[in-house]
Amino acid sequence: MQLTIRARLTILYFAVLAASFFAFFWICDFGFQRSIETTVNDASRGNLESVRKVIEASLPQGVPKVQQQLTQLSSLWANGAIFEVASADGEWLFRSARFLSPEFALPAIPPAGVSFLTNNLEMRQYQIARERLLIGGKTFLIDAAVPTEPFDQALDNFRLIEKEFLPLLVILASLLGYWLGGRALAPVNRIIQSAEEVGVQSLSRRLELPCAKDELRRLTETLNAMLDRIESSVKRITQFTADASHDLRTPLSLIRTNAELALRRPRTESEYRATLSRILASSEESAQLIEQLLTLARADAGATQLNLKVAPLLPVLLDACQQARLWAQAKGLDFQDSLPSEPLTVHMDARAMERLLLTLLDNAVKYTSAGGTVRLRGHSDERHAIVEIADSGIGIAESDLPYIFDRFYRADQARSREVPGSGLGLAIARWIADGHNATIDVESSMGNGALFRVRVPLAGAAASAEALPKTLEPPVESAV
Ligand code: ADP
Repeated sequence: MQLTIRARLTILYFAVLAASFFAFFWICDFGFQRSIETTVNDASRGNLESVRKVIEASLPQGVPKVQQQLTQLSSLWANGAIFEVASADGEWLFRSARFLSPEFALPAIPPAGVSFLTNNLEMRQYQIARERLLIGGKTFLIDAAVPTEPFDQALDNFRLIEKEFLPLLVILASLLGYWLGGRALAPVNRIIQSAEEVGVQSLSRRLELPCAKDELRRLTETLNAMLDRIESSVKRITQFTADASHDLRTPLSLIRTNAELALRRPRTESEYRATLSRILASSEESAQLIEQLLTLARADAGATQLNLKVAPLLPVLLDACQQARLWAQAKGLDFQDSLPSEPLTVHMDARAMERLLLTLLDNAVKYTSAGGTVRLRGHSDERHAIVEIADSGIGIAESDLPYIFDRFYRADQARSREVPGSGLGLAIARWIADGHNATIDVESSMGNGALFRVRVPLAGAAASAEALPKTLEPPVESAV
């Protein structure tokens, strides 16, 4: 059976209280008994002492004088204390009236010193102290009894209170604990209630903050911060899905329109060829878009692992330059490269790194008009391999710069010129850079071309192996 926190707290409270009260009363009871014992024993000893003094003082005047003095002493003790004195040969010199009880008689010679025994005389509890004394060359046996009834009575009363009040006290305190538990947990119930009201349709709702600046407030703040993150993730996913569907629809409707138009009436072979080329271009565009979407979806799910190995960057740069030169030639651009003599060893996934560089080179070619220039320069500083890809193209407006790495973001410039693209290339490039602990910086302004600078930690540098992320987070959006 699953108990609520409140019930568990109450049970715990009950158990702790019962144990503490029990221990407390037990210690009091024990202390009380000990203190009664000490008081009574001291009183008995005091009485023995008084009797001894009387015997010592009156013995020189003969035994009758002793008896007379003891009788006098006995009558002085109004508190019920009694005593009896015998000589060593068993002859009673004095006995208080209540000691005449037949049940009580002096035993054989008791041991030296004071010994204590409890006896019930006339149904009353007495503590009896017994002593053997040598006074004036004679041995005397003295019993002095102090009534313990008042003490016993007090102890009984205390135990009665203990018996009657202990369970009551524990029950009352437990009820109080149950009530307090309810009060303490009330804010938790409020948090639960408002958390239950948050759903996908009402993700913008937040939990009400408790007034007190305590742990529950911190918990609520943490939950609210978590809701912020969930809301922005859901928004991002919704936006991503909407953008993806929109961008996929465009090439697909182009394919459909081209095919429909071609089928309306018979065409010449060259018309069919032209239509089929347009269809091919559109299907390539959608295939590329789907591939990019898949890459990002896998990255989001954490399913894509980069295979990082220590490898030289130079061969990757050479391959990328070869490809970029072909693109540049096809578009009538001048392509220049400047590569280092050293291999630039880094931790990298060569295929992913090549993809990153080709994305930047593809953009440089795409956004530069015929006659322009595209440059790639590879070099290094103490800790990084640095690759700079520059072009003399349309450039990027300052207001667009913070967003170009966001998914589906395309600057108006790029859209208005009808340059093909999805706005996903740089998002993927940055995800790859993050996976290499690398950075990508951009320097650009409208009409003045763009310079993308990639810095990858060198394998020997301190900031390499350990600094590399173990798992890759999906690309982060700066604006959704
Ligand atoms: P796209 O498929 O649109 O090229 P990217 O993610 O690669 O998507 O780039 C995002 C946007 O950044 C582009 O649409 C463009 O506006 C801008 N951009 C990227 N590289 C360049 C460049 N070399 N010159 C000018 N604009 C660029």
